[in-house]
Amino acid sequence: MPELPEVETIRRDLEPRLAGRRIARVEIALDRVPVLEGIDEATFREGLVGARIEGLDRRGKFLIFELDTGARLIVHLRMTGKLLLDGAPLVGHLRATFTLDDGTTLRFTDMRKFGRLWLVDSLTPLFDKIGPEPLTEGFALEHLAAALLNRKAPVKSVILDQRRIAGIGNIYADEALHRAGIHPSRPADRISDDELAALHRAIRATLTHALQYIVRHPDAHGRPFIVDAYDDRMRLPRKKNAKCPDCGTLLATQKFGGRTSYFCPQCQK
Ligand SMILES: [Zn+2]
Repeated sequence: MPELPEVETIRRDLEPRLAGRRIARVEIALDRVPVLEGIDEATFREGLVGARIEGLDRRGKFLIFELDTGARLIVHLRMTGKLLLDGAPLVGHLRATFTLDDGTTLRFTDMRKFGRLWLVDSLTPLFDKIGPEPLTEGFALEHLAAALLNRKAPVKSVILDQRRIAGIGNIYADEALHRAGIHPSRPADRISDDELAALHRAIRATLTHALQYIVRHPDAHGRPFIVDAYDDRMRLPRKKNAKCPDCGTLLATQKFGGRTSYFCPQCQK
């Protein structure tokens, strides 16, 4: 599932190929599960055809296409959504196709169909509840402290909450907690100042490491590769009988909100 590093590398990959192009055609695949959120197909198409893509932005796990009309096309890939350019082999169900003025096609495909598209005039209703961006210069220790303050919930659940911090999903939450040596079920308000500082460093190190890994290891088409299984962007092998890379202890698992957490019972107290 794409989290901040994956979505950010997709943004960096697509922007130079799409910026400056006009959208010539929009096709939405017929499906029982709608891909458009809060807008009907005719209004969506009308708002996009003829618009020029000025640039691509990102907020949390959302990709934002800035248009010269002032509107924004927003994409959330959720579990299995993909944005495929031109001849890239089709993966999953075709959900929408955007044809640009130079003939480039951008297809939105999705195996599980949780991904969604929006066309909005204002970012406010969608983004005003999203927490700070953990990789920006401005993400200081006190922002993490504020996110955890007075939260009795497990620290894992708090850092997964997009309203507290943007862009962290199940995998990188586990990675960051392992780096920081913090057990995922520890109540957020019981994290010490030293642990908080370690977690702040760990979140940034985890996301930065993943970003650099993805850039260095593109797929066969030179595009960002979305992780489906364990690779070296992660420290914790997410499989049965996997061992802690630091101490060799068997990793333990625990469910939080239906998602499996991996952690080291020895290193994460
Ligand atoms: Zn360990």
